[in-house]
Amino acid sequence: MSTLTGCVLPFIQVRDHRSIYLEMASSVPCGPCGHDSIKKNAEKWCTDCSEGFCNVCEKAHRAMKMSRYHNFIQIGDYREIENVKVCLECKEHGSKLEMYCKLHEMPICLACFPAKHKSCSDAIIPLAEAAKNAKASTSLADLEHTINNTIGNIRECVKDREAATEKMETQEIRIKKLISITRQNINDRLDDLERKLLNDLSTTYSSCTSKYQKLTNKLNTIEKVIKRVKEETSQLKRFAPDLHVFLNTHQMNIEIHNEVKAIQEAISSIDNYNIEIEIHQGITSLLKDVDCFAQIKVTKVPSAFHFKMQRLIKLNYQHKLEEPFIIQA
Ligand SMILES: [Zn+2]
Ligand SMILES: [Zn+2]
Ligand SMILES: [Zn+2]
Ligand SMILES: [Zn+2]
Repeated sequence: MSTLTGCVLPFIQVRDHRSIYLEMASSVPCGPCGHDSIKKNAEKWCTDCSEGFCNVCEKAHRAMKMSRYHNFIQIGDYREIENVKVCLECKEHGSKLEMYCKLHEMPICLACFPAKHKSCSDAIIPLAEAAKNAKASTSLADLEHTINNTIGNIRECVKDREAATEKMETQEIRIKKLISITRQNINDRLDDLERKLLNDLSTTYSSCTSKYQKLTNKLNTIEKVIKRVKEETSQLKRFAPDLHVFLNTHQMNIEIHNEVKAIQEAISSIDNYNIEIEIHQGITSLLKDVDCFAQIKVTKVPSAFHFKMQRLIKLNYQHKLEEPFIIQA
């Protein structure tokens, strides 16, 4: 209770029976007593005068001829409808609505009559008469039905929007997953291609260098042979007789000649290799031309949701409605 005191409280909290303080603060004062600067709580409310009355003042009000048939309601009942503003005056003329035109189906004031309802005189009745049994009228039932129906429609539309939001959420998750899978596939594919390319590079390198090595080996072998001939020739020159040197020179000439021929042949077929790389067009295009991973598209489809109305609300032509209700069977 202490938390509530000192606050500005809305009407609903004011009716909270836990707080006497609030009840006191929210009570309706008696109008006539207040006029005499007397503070007194009203017990009844005159709906004709829109004023609160204490028991004494109510009696006095009823005693007067002018207000004898005014309608009183309990102050508690008044509190229930206090915040529901019912316009009792003509919006156009500001005077009290006193009559009802059955032709135009609208309440009118004294000024309305000559202005717009001159030809309706047969259809004009006192407002009180038109209002008889208003609580059991089909208009009220229709209004209640329309209100409930509209609330039902709003609830359904909100539910429909919630379902649509949920559906979008699912779509978003699905697309995120697809982006992630696509990305992973690209990564895997690039990894595969890179592995294959490095493999190719290594094979090519090996093949080229092995060709170089083959020739080097051949040259080394020939060199060894020639060195052996050189050694033998030098030895024979130093220690052998002329006949041996003569025969050896003849034989070695043939051998050297053959080796020189072999070297010439080998050298004539020497090739130099250059390893180069040509990046696939698809890959350069990915880096240069592909400027987005994918495009997010939105398609718009009219909702299947419709405002459902069991029957058409009959409205007089005098009432201005921007858009008429449409019946949905
Ligand atoms: Zn009073
Ligand atoms: Zn009154
Ligand atoms: Zn009027
Ligand atoms: Zn009229």
